[in-house]
Amino acid sequence: MPMSFELIDTHAHLDFPEFADQIGSIIDRALQAGVSQIVTIGIDIKTSRKAARIAESNERIYASAGIHPHGAFNLKEQDLRDLEEIASGKKVVALGEIGLDYYHDRQPRAVQRECFKLQMETAVKIARPVIFHIRNAWEDFFQLAGEFAPSLRPSVMHCFSGDWATARRCLDMGFYLSMPGVVTFPKAESLQEVAKRAPLDRLLVETDCPFLTPVPYRGKTNEPAFVLHTARKVAECRKEPLEKVAAHTTENARTVFGIQAPIKA
Ligand SMILES: [Zn+2]
Ligand SMILES: [Zn+2]
Repeated sequence: MPMSFELIDTHAHLDFPEFADQIGSIIDRALQAGVSQIVTIGIDIKTSRKAARIAESNERIYASAGIHPHGAFNLKEQDLRDLEEIASGKKVVALGEIGLDYYHDRQPRAVQRECFKLQMETAVKIARPVIFHIRNAWEDFFQLAGEFAPSLRPSVMHCFSGDWATARRCLDMGFYLSMPGVVTFPKAESLQEVAKRAPLDRLLVETDCPFLTPVPYRGKTNEPAFVLHTARKVAECRKEPLEKVAAHTTENARTVFGIQAPIKA
């Protein structure tokens, strides 16, 4: 039976060991849940190359390339050349995930900032949108993003974790807010408020799988098919039909990443 809606998981980590040799069945289950396309995300040079390869061999998968703040380091020219080369690939649609994570603080903040800034420069240079990973680093983020926003393609706040005031500032900079499975958690009232108040033409949905499994699958490995539950929760928060939320978030994903709808068999 054809689905009455279509979804895109804008943030998955399909290169992770949890998914080894399972891409085919993951796509099958995604399609059964109405998820027609997936963006798989790199977190360093190696995983970005892997993401690009996965995308090249699967019609419904696209990739991003970037160095995550957890692995931030002092990038040399060669690192940036490598990144630029991967990010220029035919099915690589964004620079990311890149950003600042002052919650986990795995790398010195000054190193995170410099690594982030250099990758933003690459994004501007090759005209790709950015997928931002920002945790507890909003002021530094807004300062840096403010410098780049005028020349940056409209970009994505992945796994958005701020309150409505923060969301408003991101929207004012032209960014999209990507809703993770966290929005289904009973205690996520602040994120549910963002899901309710954000304009529908700026929302995306994502899994961030294998992490952040939504209700009702807590405890299981997350996968792209489960983005349906996130979209359903967003629809419930907005008191709008799932079909409407799905249509807009899917169109938004195609706009921001420049993705074509799949050719129907
Ligand atoms: Zn992230
Ligand atoms: Zn991620």
